Amino acid sequence: MSKRDYYEVLGVKRDASEAELKKAYKSLAMKYHPDRNPDDEKAEEKFKEANEAYGILSDSQKRAMYDQHGHAGVEGGMGGAGFGGAGGASFSDIFGDVFGDIFGGGGGRGRGSHAHRGDDLQYNLELNLEEAVAGTKVDIRIPTHVKCETCDGSGAKKGTSPATCTTCGGVGQVRMQQGFFSLQQTCPRCHGKGKMITDPCPSCHGQGRTQKHKTLSVKIPAGVDNGDRIRLNGEGEAGEHGGPSGDLYVQVAVRQHSIFERDGSDLFCEVPINIATAAIGGELEVPTLNGRVKLKVPAETQSGKLFRLRGKGVKSVRGGHQGDLLCRVLVETPVNLTKKQKELLDKFNQSLEEDSVQHSPRSSNWLDGVKKFFEDMKF
Ligand SMILES: [Zn+2]
Ligand SMILES: [Zn+2]
Repeated sequence: MSKRDYYEVLGVKRDASEAELKKAYKSLAMKYHPDRNPDDEKAEEKFKEANEAYGILSDSQKRAMYDQHGHAGVEGGMGGAGFGGAGGASFSDIFGDVFGDIFGGGGGRGRGSHAHRGDDLQYNLELNLEEAVAGTKVDIRIPTHVKCETCDGSGAKKGTSPATCTTCGGVGQVRMQQGFFSLQQTCPRCHGKGKMITDPCPSCHGQGRTQKHKTLSVKIPAGVDNGDRIRLNGEGEAGEHGGPSGDLYVQVAVRQHSIFERDGSDLFCEVPINIATAAIGGELEVPTLNGRVKLKVPAETQSGKLFRLRGKGVKSVRGGHQGDLLCRVLVETPVNLTKKQKELLDKFNQSLEEDSVQHSPRSSNWLDGVKKFFEDMKF
């Protein structure tokens, strides 16, 4: 596809001055800037075209070559003339440059961009289960940068104010000419802030903020769980040069409890019971976070049975219903038996064997299974 004449692209005469070129280019770039024409391929084409034309015509050497030889004189990759890079500059390089040129050139991009928002902070808070479930109030001490009170965050000594950086003229960026593209770099003098502190504040050495420990009283809402995060707006690091503060995140970790395990809004615990209670039934006392409650264990309760105590769990910080307490009973084999007790158990055992009633359905099922297994294997 043949290229349009660069002068035509910019809409200027062949003897246009540098200022006229620049003016024409700026108005085209503003008009066709991709930010203003999202998803408009034609505009993007025009934008690139204007960029290319201006890239050549704004460079007096290349302009001369172009005037003499036309497009062939300035094509990328032409050896000898030192134009390497014309075809290699990516769209984004150009984009950045144009953007800076148009919006950053005159009076800076607005003061806001020099004032950086402070960092977010994270505080790891360990709670026990009771605190997490009931909610609590904790004082946390955090090291943080805070706005310097002496200079009110400006970094300049009292009575003085930061001067505009003389190197970059307050833009925070300096322009370097490379080939015919000008590249922007962060100003080495003011490090992009656009301001120079000639008389630094003695308290913060010109930083505008100082490091301090601050103690915050934080309310932990009832129902928080392991891994929950509480955000405290604006309690993070102070911003630089009067920028807004970051946020503070309190990351909750709940210590393991000796009795309960939590799963969402349910609590879980294991309750050992003895053989006699399991066999003939009885009443157990089980713990909850609000004290003891009675749990009726029916006769013939097997080890591992799970009992649900409705509403004895916890309520999530996100609302919803109060969970349940799940108690798993574990039948415990008695230890340290006296001779007498052993004799009693022996007698008890004999009575079970003499009886014709099935007392251990699980065992007999199991034994039947084993018998069948050996028969099938034909041992
Ligand atoms: Zn200060
Ligand atoms: Zn500067």
